[in-house]
Amino acid sequence: MSPAAVMAIETKDLWRVYPCRSGAAGEGVPALRGIEMKVKTGQFVVLRGRSGSGKTTLLNILAGLDSPTSGSVSVLGHNLAEMSEQDLTIWRREQIGLVFQSFGLLATLSAYENVELLLRIQGSDPQQSHQRTMEVLEMVGLTRWRDHRPYELSGGQQQRVAIARALANNARLILADEPTGELDSRTGHEILSFLRNLVDTTHITLLMASHDPLVDKYAQHVLTLEDGMLTAPEKKK
Ligand code: ADP
Ligand code: MG
Repeated sequence: MSPAAVMAIETKDLWRVYPCRSGAAGEGVPALRGIEMKVKTGQFVVLRGRSGSGKTTLLNILAGLDSPTSGSVSVLGHNLAEMSEQDLTIWRREQIGLVFQSFGLLATLSAYENVELLLRIQGSDPQQSHQRTMEVLEMVGLTRWRDHRPYELSGGQQQRVAIARALANNARLILADEPTGELDSRTGHEILSFLRNLVDTTHITLLMASHDPLVDKYAQHVLTLEDGMLTAPEKKK
């Protein structure tokens, strides 16, 4: 394998400085300050840091939803700076799965429809979309609940629908932003062990942002972000 294939994520001297909110000239808010990170393919890595440390900013950049002020970002072997908006949209749809704290499900759609929607947008064949939707709903243990709408599901079940949706496109990299942030701790642990098992049994790479130290024991590596800088080297488990 080439080195690029071994690293799912690599950043070099990555900075993100937000302009001043007031729009006034000034130094701006440096949310990321010279991030050098490497995430190996097939690992569960936690990006831990307090609120405001830059986790969401970093995930947005890795997903190609935001651009760095300076520095380079390589994700799944692509240098994101060289990709057009359109390339990034297609690449994200085909290779990245996004999971958010607030689940991000559409309230009027059933669990099944929430998962299938993305496949439809991608223009997948209806028969294949159906098959894949059923497959991922089974992976997250929600086959029985497929016709339920989000408000009829528990928080943990809703997050499992969101995870199924992130997996539906056969994503190679899952970026999860505080996925257990709105769950009680027992349900949070359930989701974390599901995710760990997923990484152990597939080739998926998972980068998960969290402010909660309890997530550390599920990860193979923990990166610590403090005021926009990675403080500790990767800790081996
Ligand atoms: P975290 O996800 O770790 O809570 P964020 O990435 O959301 O951290 O924020 C990092 C820093 O950047 C914070 O100081 C935050 O206030 C600032 N920030 C985030 N988004 C914006 C924005 N759109 N405009 C200006 N400042 C922002
Ligand atoms: Mg955040």
